[in-house]
Amino acid sequence: MQIYSVQNQQTLRFNNCKTVLNIIRDNQATPISRADIAKETFMSPTSITRITADLIDLGIVKQAETFSKGVGRRATQLRIVNDAVLSLGLFIDKDFLRMCVIDCMGKVLDKACFCLEDRDYEPEEIIQLAKGLYDEMCTKGSFDSKKVKVLGIGCVGNIDNKSGYVFFAPQMGWKKIDLKYMAEEAFKMPIYIDNDLKMALIGTTYNSDEMKESDVAIVTIGVGVGVSVMYNGKLVRGISNAAGEVGHTVFKPNGRLCVCGRMGCLASYLTEVGMVEICKSKGYRVKSFKDIVEAYNNGEDWAIKEIDAFTSNIATFLGNMIYTYNTKYLLVIGSIIENYQFIYDLSFSKIKDIIHDNLYSDVIIKRVSNPYSAAMGAAYTAQNIYIENMIRTYINNHTL
Ligand SMILES: [Zn+2]
Repeated sequence: MQIYSVQNQQTLRFNNCKTVLNIIRDNQATPISRADIAKETFMSPTSITRITADLIDLGIVKQAETFSKGVGRRATQLRIVNDAVLSLGLFIDKDFLRMCVIDCMGKVLDKACFCLEDRDYEPEEIIQLAKGLYDEMCTKGSFDSKKVKVLGIGCVGNIDNKSGYVFFAPQMGWKKIDLKYMAEEAFKMPIYIDNDLKMALIGTTYNSDEMKESDVAIVTIGVGVGVSVMYNGKLVRGISNAAGEVGHTVFKPNGRLCVCGRMGCLASYLTEVGMVEICKSKGYRVKSFKDIVEAYNNGEDWAIKEIDAFTSNIATFLGNMIYTYNTKYLLVIGSIIENYQFIYDLSFSKIKDIIHDNLYSDVIIKRVSNPYSAAMGAAYTAQNIYIENMIRTYINNHTL
């Protein structure tokens, strides 16, 4: 019985610390006092004093004495120590590595990008390139590298977020890789790894008051195609952390042959490579997606026809996602959407006619252009886990 009561006490203390920390964070712009926190949480002033003492002892929270207006009585307000734990985020994609460092308020202190060649890379090579990119960032001095405590990685493919194991990442040519171990060896800090699109959803919503606790789906259309979704701010993962891996669901029965060996997969229609292959198979001389856009801009009939079919396919896919997930927000990202606004505009204009009126009027569809969102989301998630572990260890060491 003794053991259970200690565990309950520790869990309660941990949850209280997290609640109070979140309140202080949410009020950073106009710092809050202990008395106000007590009112907001319905906890006793004595409890709040003890919880904030823990957070101050941990170095995550500090107090700033100010004079309240009018009477001149002293009220002590609490703030987050912005640089208590800096977190590094890395986004591994087929064509780019993107990296950023964030502080405890999620502010990006620095970012960097490395352009990959059009070939397969071994995972060790990618980790070494990322380490080189990080070392370069450190020499610039826009953050204190000693305060960077943790690395979060958003990687394309199906990843076990608990173990950091990559089951498959076809875009990279990777299968069954212990990416977490490789990253730990190179960076010498705790590592958190997750799917890139899930991290992009976190990166896009965590500092948005309107979206962070809402129902949001994010769709990527570019190098790959996929979707990630959260309800009430909580990610939907599925049993294999593969919820939203829609690239190899059938989009057109008996359609084009996909790289996976099956026919008519979404990935062979709604990606840059898929579109280029469609055009090539019809005899048009194109090497890249850019060539198709150029022909379109030059008014070539075939390109106008192909882009029209392509944007109708995007609209159909987005419509399918609206019916499937019925979220308040549908965010659209990915290289095609970010680089070519007109493709998004054309696709968007076609959605209204293909879904029911009430679903169309309920959903808020937004094009989001932030190539660093997956790196930011990974950095934020890793930082959150790191701080939780700090609090847990502290409580375990300070419970009688
Ligand atoms: Zn396929």
